[in-house]
Amino acid sequence: MNNSIIIKVAVAAPLFSLFDYLPAETTLATQLLPGCRVRVPFGRGKRIGVIWEICDHDDTTPPAHRLKVIEEILDAIPLLDEKERHFLSWCAGYYHHPIGEVVSAALPTRLRQSKQPSATLEQGWRVTGNNLSLHDFRSAPVQQRILQRLLDAKQGISDKQLTTLDGNIRPALKRLQQKGAIEQCDMAPAPPSCSGKRVTLSQEQQHAVDEIHAASGFSTLLLDGITGSGKTEVYLHAADQVISRGHQVLVLVPEIALTPQLLRRFQRGVAGIVAISHSALGSGDRERSWMQAQKGEVDLLIGTRSAIFTPMPRLGLIIIDEEHDISFKQQEGFRYSARDLAVMKAKQHNIPIVLGSATPSLETLHNSLKDRYQWLKLRQRPGKAKPPQIGLVDIRAQRLRAGICSDLIKSIREEVDKDHQVILFLNRRGYAPQLTCHACGWIAECRDCDARMTWHQKLQRLWCHHCGYQHAKPERCPDCGATDSMIYQGQGTERVEEYLGEVFPDIQVIRIDRDSTRRKGSLEKALHQVNESDACILVGTQMLAKGHDFPRVTLVGILNADQGLLNPDFRAPERTAQLLLQVSGRAGRADKPGKVLIQTRHPRDPLLQTLLHKGYEAFSREELTQRQHAQLPPFAHQALIRAEGIDSKKVQEFLQFSISQAPQLLPHIELWGPTPALIERKAGVYRWHLLL
Ligand code: ADP
Ligand code: ZN
Ligand code: ZN
Repeated sequence: MNNSIIIKVAVAAPLFSLFDYLPAETTLATQLLPGCRVRVPFGRGKRIGVIWEICDHDDTTPPAHRLKVIEEILDAIPLLDEKERHFLSWCAGYYHHPIGEVVSAALPTRLRQSKQPSATLEQGWRVTGNNLSLHDFRSAPVQQRILQRLLDAKQGISDKQLTTLDGNIRPALKRLQQKGAIEQCDMAPAPPSCSGKRVTLSQEQQHAVDEIHAASGFSTLLLDGITGSGKTEVYLHAADQVISRGHQVLVLVPEIALTPQLLRRFQRGVAGIVAISHSALGSGDRERSWMQAQKGEVDLLIGTRSAIFTPMPRLGLIIIDEEHDISFKQQEGFRYSARDLAVMKAKQHNIPIVLGSATPSLETLHNSLKDRYQWLKLRQRPGKAKPPQIGLVDIRAQRLRAGICSDLIKSIREEVDKDHQVILFLNRRGYAPQLTCHACGWIAECRDCDARMTWHQKLQRLWCHHCGYQHAKPERCPDCGATDSMIYQGQGTERVEEYLGEVFPDIQVIRIDRDSTRRKGSLEKALHQVNESDACILVGTQMLAKGHDFPRVTLVGILNADQGLLNPDFRAPERTAQLLLQVSGRAGRADKPGKVLIQTRHPRDPLLQTLLHKGYEAFSREELTQRQHAQLPPFAHQALIRAEGIDSKKVQEFLQFSISQAPQLLPHIELWGPTPALIERKAGVYRWHLLL
């Protein structure tokens, strides 16, 4: 091949530039396509990269004899089209992250290596035409069971589904295949299962759908709707219209909101093929969704933050649900905000994007107030459902048991007596956040962090929530040697669960937090249990706050709202208000009226007062005014330089050095620090900050 060509490759390496290579002599020009993966020599080894550009030699490029040759072209068809490459280049520039690492992070795990993309069709099994009767398999019950299932589903069943059957499935499948009873087949993606049944939209909802429909080209719309106002219905209608015009839709949701419940709503609500992508999915399934979307085989992709990097050639609409949620931020490695990237992607594709929330972020509200975003409001719950009544319970001078005051217990009893359900919210898992020696005051602290260990009763272990370090409860106090002197202080969800079990022995208490849902499928099981039971009490962390629709919940109790009120972070009031309203929103979603009780020792706190009496919009306007006075984001930009190391002195010295350099490099910038992080030592590493 002619030697005047240079190939610029985004190589997976922590370096900021593209790297120049030559094509192999045997390579044809038609094989050199931007967006295809290649294997290239790099340093002393080999790396995978993606062809980014193909250019001619000129005086800016190094002479050909100094360039290495591409070893292998891995794809015949580009994985990343031009729009996607343009998007990723922008991401790398905006976040100052090496382009090769950005590209690598955007690809499914297997495709970061030299593996070939797997087929987009799932593998399955079906019965052959051979006339075999179940009776012939009576001595092999596993085979018989499989055959029974396959006879009931002539179009086949996916391999994955079959392997969830009881018994030793793999060898049984092999035997059945050898006997000629079954054969492997490709499974078509699940066909649209839109039931066609639709709610009649309220006037507010219809207006929102019409405005989204009318948006031509790039525009950002804020769908600001109280919890339960029917935002999801608006998404479904808007998505369905876009799909019927032949375009694809990308829906991003927070990590923990992606419940099977929500997936089913989308599957039933739009006349198109729906795929899903999130971190709990196996890497094979994620790659399949990615490839299906990339080939245009699916109409709607619903996923968590990393789904923003799925190329979608027919993209026509992006929807971000709960746009204020912090799980849209990737906080390590290639750090990004999927919400902000989604707005840029919509701009590059020249399509509308909808940001939905009951409690929009202040950045988004600011943009809406400035008319950069179109502000659509849903202020009513459809049908008979009314927004819940929110009240404060002053717990000063009250006797608490497991952190619950007697007024709240009384209210719980009233509701469960009427066969209603109750949610108690406590943002702390485990049994007790502190284990103390009653004799001398010793406190169980983590070996590697400046933090206390949490006692977990079920596990019978002390557990550091910051670094994961665990150990058993000491038999005698490490300080004074006393035995039987350990007491638990404070409460987590386990302790609340235990106490409620004692007070309400006849009522089912269901705990939902990261510990109780660690096993795959256990969250679904718990949610199912809630929907199946009459009266019950749910105890949980913020996992309970979003996305779930519990129609029979009439009372929500918030146990430790004060935790958020006392946090010094400038975003803490915003986060606290969002969390309180999201949790409150779980009450009274169907025809029964809902009530929310917030336990507090600061009933006069201005945040609580504004939220209760004037609502989130008034709160957020006040908060924005305060941010403006203090010149905080979104009225000014901030950057944080974080230094970490095992030697605290060196960490501080580095930041002092940064300060000494700053005036020349950044003349108009204010510097704060260095200050230690909230938890200075974490997992044995010292962390200090410098705020610009
Ligand atoms: P959000 O996403 O704003 O929290 P949802 O879309 O989940 O709200 O709606 C809350 C409940 O109200 C759901 O059970 C939904 O089916 C129902 N709902 C939504 N819109 C309507 C409507 N126009 N008529 C009747 N019920 C509706
Ligand atoms: Zn002691
Ligand atoms: Zn620790």
